[in-house]
Amino acid sequence: LRAEFSMIRRESGFISGLVCVLHDVTEQEKNERERREFVSNVSHELRTPLTSTRSYVEALNDGAWQDKEIAPQFLNVIQEETDRMIRMINDLLRLSRMDAQKEPLRMELINLNELLNFVLDRFDMMIKSKNQPYSIRREFTNRSIWVDADADKMIQVLDNILNNALKYSPMGGTITCRLIETHRNVVISISDQGLGIPKKDLTRVFDRFYRVDKARSREMGGSGLGLAITKEVVKEHGGAIWAESKEGKGSTFYISLPYEPYEEDLWL
Ligand code: ADP
Repeated sequence: LRAEFSMIRRESGFISGLVCVLHDVTEQEKNERERREFVSNVSHELRTPLTSTRSYVEALNDGAWQDKEIAPQFLNVIQEETDRMIRMINDLLRLSRMDAQKEPLRMELINLNELLNFVLDRFDMMIKSKNQPYSIRREFTNRSIWVDADADKMIQVLDNILNNALKYSPMGGTITCRLIETHRNVVISISDQGLGIPKKDLTRVFDRFYRVDKARSREMGGSGLGLAITKEVVKEHGGAIWAESKEGKGSTFYISLPYEPYEEDLWL
């Protein structure tokens, strides 16, 4: 905290008061530090795929293009790295639009049970069509839960958490989605039986570019921005998001949204 004092002097020359202005320097410095870290993170995140793309292009240029076996492999890597960079830039643009509040939510009254079923049905189809070793369990409260939310954005939030549940559960397992209502909130939870998250990383996974295992996330094509975007969207809804985990046993992500049950519903 920086304090500035100034005296109030009367025309007669007498001092009749003292004004103290307090500046919250720590907050300013913190913001500035975060901004610098963010720019440095973006540069590093882009340099890695760019450097690898350049070396593959160089190798092709040096003659690898004539090798019928190697050339398609190299081109594949170049395509994957380029796709990842485009995904990262798109995620960054979304975050910056949200930071600038240029993307207001389109709120409507939605039935959360139906929305969850819609998203989970799609995942079920995908898992089955690819013969992946996962199963999805649903444990919903019996009552229909209606909340004010932006349906498209909530679908993206759920997609992201479910995709992570698959990505970080290499051995497969059950993914359980619960819908619970408390006094003033509705809570959605998504549990997996995957790698889990160390305790010290549980709050940090929502930070931009933070990953528990950088190499694994890159390998899976991740940008490290998914949960940061998810957290922004949930915050915009006036809700909260957090995670619990046991390393090696699995993770649970919770989303709570403000919810007021309709009077009539309470009597049904
Ligand atoms: P990305 O998956 O692109 O790396 P995210 O922002 O979605 O980025 O996630 C950040 C990090 O949080 C991941 O790199 C991973 O380390 C960790 N994480 C997220 N979801 C899970 C999960 N279900 N199980 C274990 N780790 C997870």
